[in-house]
Amino acid sequence: MALIVHKYGGTSMGSTDRIRNVAKRVAKWVRAGHQMVVVPSAMSGETNRLLGLAKELSPASVTAEVNRELDMIAATGEQVSVGLLAIALQAEGVQAVSYTGWQVPVSTDSSHTKARIESIDDKRVRADLAAGKVVVIAGFQGIDANDNITTLGRGGSDTSAVAIAAAMKADECLIYTDVDGVYTTDPRIVPEARRLHTISFEEMLEMASLGSKILQIRSVEFAGKYKVPLRVLSSFTPWDIDINEEAKSGTLISFEEDENMEQAVVSGIAFNRDEAKVTLLGVPDKPGIAFQILGPVAEANIDIDVIIQNVSHDGKTDFSFTVHRNDYARTMELLQSTVGPATNAGKVVGDAKICKVSIVGIGMRSHVGVASKMFRALSEEGINIQMISTSEIKTSVVIDEKYMELAVRALHKAFDLDQDAVAA
Ligand code: ADP
Ligand code: ASP
Ligand code: MG
Repeated sequence: MALIVHKYGGTSMGSTDRIRNVAKRVAKWVRAGHQMVVVPSAMSGETNRLLGLAKELSPASVTAEVNRELDMIAATGEQVSVGLLAIALQAEGVQAVSYTGWQVPVSTDSSHTKARIESIDDKRVRADLAAGKVVVIAGFQGIDANDNITTLGRGGSDTSAVAIAAAMKADECLIYTDVDGVYTTDPRIVPEARRLHTISFEEMLEMASLGSKILQIRSVEFAGKYKVPLRVLSSFTPWDIDINEEAKSGTLISFEEDENMEQAVVSGIAFNRDEAKVTLLGVPDKPGIAFQILGPVAEANIDIDVIIQNVSHDGKTDFSFTVHRNDYARTMELLQSTVGPATNAGKVVGDAKICKVSIVGIGMRSHVGVASKMFRALSEEGINIQMISTSEIKTSVVIDEKYMELAVRALHKAFDLDQDAVAA
């Protein structure tokens, strides 16, 4: 008997028919003798609908008070899901009980709308499992030290599931979604993308942090820290397929670089439209300038991603960096009102219509010329690169948003990712 955590995303929970299917699938795992914890997301579109209602009443605000209420509102989406799934399981003849985050409790810090899980008390859940019940726990949510309901950021149910699997030392965490695994890139953008049988943990971490929405970055971090066996697979296969076949399907996030791993230099391409670029023109090129600019930005709790400082002419230089698009207006305001004048900058300019496209692969460690191949492929499409950032296993470029899909397709081809998968 194993302890297994299943996570079902919004599309997989998208209608009562689909919820019934989830229940039938989970019931199959119960009949095979497993203890089951199931973490569903809100029904598809529900989180957007709820946040949309809030926005109608408070369009521009991002105050701490508003964020607290956004969590209060958004958390209800998952509360409905867990109740519906528990009922569907009971209808399948399986004992089941549902809990919201606070009932478990899943304890988080107080960063509303992007809270971090700090600890999970599994006493109640273990007692239910021991009593033969399936435990259905709301994804995406928790509670802070002052009993405020918190949410974990968009896509956060992945993190709930992996954190629960880690806390309970589950044998495996299976992430069921609307694609049948992790692909070389988003198959919605490149239909020729192919599924990876395995992806190394480090590559998955980069892919997620560079914008692949298939797994929330923090879920991958948790999996790495606690070595949670993690697999991404389809919830759209018939629920009654052979359980052993199902257990081996999809994509395994692997913690070892074994010889079965697909040996590509570049394993995948990620993209991110959620960034914006800001530039301070004509800042004095002197020691401490980067700190004078970025210090106040960091103090305002704004995350900075790619940074570029040009060579100086006549003692002046241009300094650009990217931030999340949600923080764009706040960053521009900060630069214009305080940082610009304090640093004697000439002018502050911004561009919210950019995107970041990245190639990822552990093979890049041992191969030279990968970045130049990337730049050549982009130049052949006439795409101008605005910023570049590299690490051991990735190269990212910032380009005009309107070329994003073209860039992803061109790179997918240039690195031969369209070809048939190596047999696992
Ligand atoms: P869920 O609601 O199940 O959490 P998401 O929409 O969050 O599902 O994530 C699944 C989606 O991620 C897929 O439908 C696909 O469009 C997108 N995606 C992005 N990058 C990839 C990738 N590399 N491989 C597979 N899917 C990807
Ligand atoms: N329902 C939340 C969202 O839409 C969490 C999730 O689906 O993982 O972001
Ligand atoms: Mg998701």
